[in-house]
Amino acid sequence: KAMIELQNVEKEFNGQLVIPPFSLTINEGEFFTLLGPSGCGKTTLMRMIAGLEIPTRGEILLAGSPVSKLPPYKRDVNMVFQQYALFPHMNVEENICFGLKMKKVPLHEQQKRAEEVMALTELTEYRYRQPKELSGGQQQRVAIARAIVNNPKVLLLDEPLGALDYQLRKHLQLELKKLQKDLGLTFLYVTHDQEEAITMSDRIAVMNKGHLEQMGTAHEIYHEPKTRFVATFIGENNILCQGDYCYALRPEKVNLHDPAIALEKTSTYRLYAGVVENVVFQGTIDKVFVRLREKDFDLPVLMAYQYFDDKRRWRPGEEILVGWEGPDAVKVES
Ligand code: ADP
Ligand code: MG
Repeated sequence: KAMIELQNVEKEFNGQLVIPPFSLTINEGEFFTLLGPSGCGKTTLMRMIAGLEIPTRGEILLAGSPVSKLPPYKRDVNMVFQQYALFPHMNVEENICFGLKMKKVPLHEQQKRAEEVMALTELTEYRYRQPKELSGGQQQRVAIARAIVNNPKVLLLDEPLGALDYQLRKHLQLELKKLQKDLGLTFLYVTHDQEEAITMSDRIAVMNKGHLEQMGTAHEIYHEPKTRFVATFIGENNILCQGDYCYALRPEKVNLHDPAIALEKTSTYRLYAGVVENVVFQGTIDKVFVRLREKDFDLPVLMAYQYFDDKRRWRPGEEILVGWEGPDAVKVES
């Protein structure tokens, strides 16, 4: 069942088209992510769904009903921002209950719901603390608790983990995903972090300069990029250009061979000679950059991952053979 529908939604600021006609359907219970570089229009799209910004053209439907004429507070959506915007003089519980209080929800009902969401977000023991007495991760949990306490149909999250450090972000990614599945909520999540998008999402829409580049599951976006932009924005890729065509080849698909050791030829295996230009230690892998001898492709250096197993480590200046299965190079629009 469709929960959020964008039908040719457009947005102009001062006569400048920031979002060209944009259409999208997000299903009930889905974890859907808008992924794209800073400035591509993610926040603008979100704000239009929340009612904080009016589309220049097009229509937005929530649970099947057009919402253009509805003010933000009448839409069954809540938004969580990167800056948590907690009330500094209220404690955790008061922050969580604020919206319910404004809506004149009876006190015992407020308390009951606050207990539930504090338990869900592991905040019960901090209920009497003020925001300044909490860590960044705890503050963000309060912002999330506050956003789900009135049972919205849809939660809009605009880079909610962007201000947190790496370890905590990784942890909260998994927590948020679990919360979303447990509550059966529809999440529209915004991030510019492709790793975050891949980890959390059921489906991803990759945006570039206001338009939709590609939409699909994390797996599809990663393994079957349709455009050069998607291929290079999601993970790392080598772009091999040959005349009018481009191919995307993941570094993990490239095998490195010692030229002194004979290889059996197969009809699908591509093999090229080169010289190791640089080797960069990355923890679980070495990144090996190889300058190819042949100029078949418009590509300065090829990147390959060398995993640490019983294979050799390469050094700059060494002669090398690089090989890959033909079908592993995916054709993309340039
Ligand atoms: P993102 O969230 O992907 O970083 P935004 O939606 O914030 O991108 O911005 C998209 C584009 O719209 C940017 O070029 C930005 O400068 C412009 N923009 C956003 N809000 C406004 C506004 N209120 N007035 C004018 N231009 C805006
Ligand atoms: Mg933004």
